Amino acid sequence: MGVHLAPTLRVLRDEIDTRWPRRDRRSDGWLGDASHQARHSDHNPDPDDRSVNAVDVDVDGIDPLLVVRQAVAHPATQYVIYNRMIWSRTRDFRAARYTGSNPHDKHVHVSVSHQRALEDSRRPWGVAAATAARLGDRVLRPGSRGGDVRELQTLANGLGARLTVDGVFGPATTAWVRSFQSARDLTPDAVVGTRTVAALRRGVPPAPAHSGRAAGSRTVRVGRVGGDVAFVQRFIGVGRCGPVTGRFGPATEAGVRWYQEMRGLAVDGVVGAATWAAMGVRVTY
Ligand SMILES: [Zn+2]
Repeated sequence: MGVHLAPTLRVLRDEIDTRWPRRDRRSDGWLGDASHQARHSDHNPDPDDRSVNAVDVDVDGIDPLLVVRQAVAHPATQYVIYNRMIWSRTRDFRAARYTGSNPHDKHVHVSVSHQRALEDSRRPWGVAAATAARLGDRVLRPGSRGGDVRELQTLANGLGARLTVDGVFGPATTAWVRSFQSARDLTPDAVVGTRTVAALRRGVPPAPAHSGRAAGSRTVRVGRVGGDVAFVQRFIGVGRCGPVTGRFGPATEAGVRWYQEMRGLAVDGVVGAATWAAMGVRVTY
C-alpha cells in the first residue's frame, strides 16, 4: 500500500464527518508537509508500512472537547493535542500544558499507535453516538437542539411531562419549561440556565436503591452513598465512573478526577462546590 492515513483514523474522521457534515475542513490535514518531514512527526509516513498515524481536524463546526473525550477513551490513541493542552497515554491521559510552537487552537490533533492491530482497528470512536453537550454546559432556549435538549426532555418526562425526546426545544418543551419554572418560583422565560437545571435535577425522584440526597447538597467523596453520588456517576458517565451504583468508590473517584482535569479544576477526586458548579448544579449546603 502507498502512503495512507491509518485506517482507525479514517474511522474517526468519517464519524466526525457524519456527525457534523457541514463542518469547516480548512484546518484538516494528515500528511506532513516539507517542514514536518524535516523533523520527527506523526504526520510523516511510517517507513515500514507507509501509514500516517496522525490526523488534524478543524475545530470549526464541531465540538472539539467531545472529540478529545472520545479519543482519550479509544485504545489506539497515543496522544491528543487541542488548545494548548495535551492528553498522552504515557501520562494516563492526564491533561497537561502543551508548549509546542503551534497552539492547536484551530484543530484537534490525534496520534495513534503504530501497532498493526491498533492502527488498522475498525473499532468505533463513539463520536457519532456521544452526547454533544451535557445539560448545564450551555444555556438552552426555544430553538436549541442537541443531546442536552434530549437530556432536558428526559428529565422533564421523569417529572411527569409527556414530551417527545427528540433533542429539539420546540413549542411543547417550551410550554412545559415555562410551567415548571413558574411552579419553582423561577422566571418563566423558557431559558434553561444554571438555576433551572439545578431545579430540574433536584426535582428528579431518587432511584429506589439510593437515598434522596439531592445533587449539590453536600460535598461528595470516597465512601459516600446516596442519590447525589448516583447523580455524579450518571453525569460523568459509565465510561469513566463505571455503573451507576450510588456508592462512591475508586472508579467514581477516577471519573471525578478525569472530569476535574477536563474542566481545568483542582484535581482532588472530591466533588465540592467548584465541581458541583462546573456540572451546572447550584450548591445548597
Ligand atoms: Zn497535527
